[in-house]
Amino acid sequence: MLNLTNVQIVYDNTIEAVREASLSVGKGSIVALLGSNGAGKSTTLKGICGVLYPEDGEIKGGQIIFEGRPLAGLPPDEIVRTGAVMVPEGRRLFDQLTVEENLVMGGYTRSRADAKRQIDMVYSLFPRLVNKRTTVSGYLSGGEQQMVAIGRALMSAPKLLMLDEPTLGLAPQITEEIFEIVARLCRQDGMGILLVEQNAQMALAIADYGYIMENGRVVLDGPADKMLRNEDVREFYLGFG
Ligand code: ATP
Repeated sequence: MLNLTNVQIVYDNTIEAVREASLSVGKGSIVALLGSNGAGKSTTLKGICGVLYPEDGEIKGGQIIFEGRPLAGLPPDEIVRTGAVMVPEGRRLFDQLTVEENLVMGGYTRSRADAKRQIDMVYSLFPRLVNKRTTVSGYLSGGEQQMVAIGRALMSAPKLLMLDEPTLGLAPQITEEIFEIVARLCRQDGMGILLVEQNAQMALAIADYGYIMENGRVVLDGPADKMLRNEDVREFYLGFG
């Protein structure tokens, strides 16, 4: 459903943050995008979602095709309408708005009836948000905020969900809960998932396929179970050196 071929993204016309990134995400599969800080993972996601701006970063080469359609050059709201949606790093909620108001904001591409249906779906996926629907999101725990951020992205009924470091700074139990939900979205609903994670071990444990980026390039890729057994991956990314 998503294919990137030799994508190149440059900041300030000088910093080549992504050099030749090629990767694919299929319907109903979880793909982990791993690599150390500054490898170019977030920039890749931003490039797919159209949230790089000329004064910031620019796609200089390659192709980003989603469901047969090139995404590069489309405005971000148009990309959301194609069904490719990102949950950004750091959640980026509207802190002064309630949980429900944040969700409603995520449904701006939907009709009122669709948005209502999606809100019910989000609450069934994250029951702990039900009692917090009128709570201002700035007062939620980090885990709950991440749930709202994922819920907000789900409001537009995406076919492809891209998550940038969804478990950063979260306790192990909440991390597990979030990974379970991500896996369920994929296995039950056939959503494609592109998961950028610093927790490589957990990401590969739920993923079907993995890519490792270094210095803007994909340096290694393969089935997730094979990657978990790969000596280099174990040494450099899983801490089994
Ligand atoms: P992290 O996990 O730290 O976010 P990452 O793999 O997501 O790492 P990116 O954030 O995509 O990496 O950064 C890739 C490169 O681009 C880095 O060298 C970074 O310093 C640079 N970079 C990122 N954003 C900008 C920007 N707005 N302007 C200039 N350079 C940037």
